[in-house]
Amino acid sequence: MSAARLHDFNDNFHIDEVEIPDPSGSDVLVRVRACGIVPNLKNVLAAAEFLPELAFPAYPAIYGLDPAGEIVAVGPDASALTVGTRVYVNPGRWCGSCQQCRSGRTRECLSYGLGGYHGFSSAAAGPFQRYPWGGFAEYMIAPASSIVTLPANVTYEEAARFGYLGTSYSALRRAEAGPATTVLVNGATGTLGVGTILLALAMGVPKILAVARDENVLESVRLLAPERIVTHSNNNGPCTDWAKRESHGEGPDVVIEALGPGSPPEATLHALKSLARGGRLSMIGGGFDSLPIDPPWFMMNQISYLGCLWFTTSEGHDVARMASSGTLQLSALTHQAFPLDRIDDAIAAACSRKAGGFDNIVIRP
Ligand SMILES: [Zn+2]
Repeated sequence: MSAARLHDFNDNFHIDEVEIPDPSGSDVLVRVRACGIVPNLKNVLAAAEFLPELAFPAYPAIYGLDPAGEIVAVGPDASALTVGTRVYVNPGRWCGSCQQCRSGRTRECLSYGLGGYHGFSSAAAGPFQRYPWGGFAEYMIAPASSIVTLPANVTYEEAARFGYLGTSYSALRRAEAGPATTVLVNGATGTLGVGTILLALAMGVPKILAVARDENVLESVRLLAPERIVTHSNNNGPCTDWAKRESHGEGPDVVIEALGPGSPPEATLHALKSLARGGRLSMIGGGFDSLPIDPPWFMMNQISYLGCLWFTTSEGHDVARMASSGTLQLSALTHQAFPLDRIDDAIAAACSRKAGGFDNIVIRP
């Protein structure tokens, strides 16, 4: 099969011919039809050099975070999955035997990592050795526990967005967003931001405060549901007072922090400080600078700051069901597909998207 492999951290991808792997145990073999590319991939490839404390796929490495395709072979212990089923592969990988894994809290496993992307400690090298396949290849092996079955009305290109949709969904759930809450999405025009808006609409959130810089993309966000979404551009100053005014003077119940890498920490603080008493902030963004915190303010206002990492396969199934019923609308996304041998062009395209998070860049291996 053809696979786009990286042979070194500062190299371009090479199209290599490698053996199609055989599924064993409870693994399945997936023919990849689309794999999402996010702007952050460029940072991740660079991070392999300067963040060695994280784990990365071993060279020559097959990256590719968000694969979708169809099952073409199943291992002997994956009898409930069938050849021909259309699937999204949740890239979350874990050890399977530690106390967290055995208790079902797999994202808290010391070895947790995202296949075809990176792990969160050197311990993730273990699962990466077991599953070295990402989505930038014609075929990949995936554990049955990672398989999200797709409804007929979700295309492979849309499914290649499930990683960021699932992350948004998990963050909204963790912050208890729902039909009686006001939700502020900070960084509302990026990949995670647009995903969070779509999921908040699907989950019945009646009022969404969308905050970002780009006024054109913000207007596209507002038009998704003008009766439920109001917008604020950071070009017009901090969002704190505006967000309070838009929520009866009290502030939003939930903030989803989805700002991209390099965002100023003040932008996070302005959104955090808008929260109503008892409010919850879920952090899923790429802003990694330290924040000065004010412990008495958290205590006196009963504020929670929640770190949210990725999502479970079960939550992936929830997203698939919402897309199947139409409560989750994916028709606003526009897709740009590249063949495997133009992967470097696809990464460049992901970094220069005019419609922000509405643009969906995928590889079709
Ligand atoms: Zn574990």
